[in-house]
Amino acid sequence: MSEALKIEGLQKTYENGFEALKGIDLSVEPGDFFALLGPNGAGKSTTIGIVSSLVAKSAGKVWVHGVDIDKDFPGAKRHLGIVPQEFNFNVFEKVEDILTNQAGYYGIPLREARKRTDQFLERLGLTEKRHTRARMLSGGMKRRLMIARALVHQPRLLILDEPTAGVDIEMRRSMYEFLREINAAGTTIILTTHYLEEAEALCRNMAIINHGKIVTNRSIKELLRDLHKEVFILDCASDIPQDLHIEGFDVQALDGHTVQVAIEKGQDLAELFSVLHQRDIAVVSMRNEANRLEQMFVNLLEQPA
Ligand code: ADP
Repeated sequence: MSEALKIEGLQKTYENGFEALKGIDLSVEPGDFFALLGPNGAGKSTTIGIVSSLVAKSAGKVWVHGVDIDKDFPGAKRHLGIVPQEFNFNVFEKVEDILTNQAGYYGIPLREARKRTDQFLERLGLTEKRHTRARMLSGGMKRRLMIARALVHQPRLLILDEPTAGVDIEMRRSMYEFLREINAAGTTIILTTHYLEEAEALCRNMAIINHGKIVTNRSIKELLRDLHKEVFILDCASDIPQDLHIEGFDVQALDGHTVQVAIEKGQDLAELFSVLHQRDIAVVSMRNEANRLEQMFVNLLEQPA
């Protein structure tokens, strides 16, 4: 089965010469709930813009469920629901017409379009507003309308660009609930965010993007585990084999006399020392190293907006 989204060597240089994407590779499996996490200006919207063909790429390839967007964009689009950051519906249209017309663009017959409109209005709590013109909706309602519109053709992949920007906490919770439900029912979801907590609350896998490059790409569980590890550098008197391996410990020989060890909560350093002792490795001194991941998050995510 092909990936829900596959990106290879994606590059984007804007007209002013700015390199927003410097060669991005990404692969998201069907059924996943995936976060593209990064600070403002990292290249998240540019990536989403290219996938939805609103932004022209400079190089690279994109497939949506195996369909190459350069060869068959309408085919790829059928699998794809996009919720961009900016509201881009006609604000003078009525809420229900926005959904029914969207279904029409995908060739869905009117009867079915009306049925789906009813369904999504209900599920996103917009039924009472169905005859209201979109410009009269609150920000949170507009966001929900954008999500309903992205889903009306029942895409297999839903991509949301910063879905909770400007959404209050109460609304955020119900949006999370809804996204979890549709993911559990089989829709693959990718969202961009600059909140680690959001990725943590919702997603299984994540990639971190910074300055147009993917910095890390793995499961959130693994990432959080590493984030909470404490890193020590041990200076040793004896020679250390380059392929040093100690069962149950995350150790790495940095050079012939230095070992780096990442300790998880609850792990006992004394146990490590006793193993080293058995192998005739004498530790002369030990210092605490800043956790590289933690450092990365501080650098990446606490930059001013
Ligand atoms: P993010 O969504 O992660 O906040 P963007 O993809 O919007 O980041 O932007 C990535 C970088 O590209 C930013 O530095 C931004 O200023 C720049 N950029 C975005 N759009 C344009 C454009 N049309 N022309 C020039 N630079 C742009």
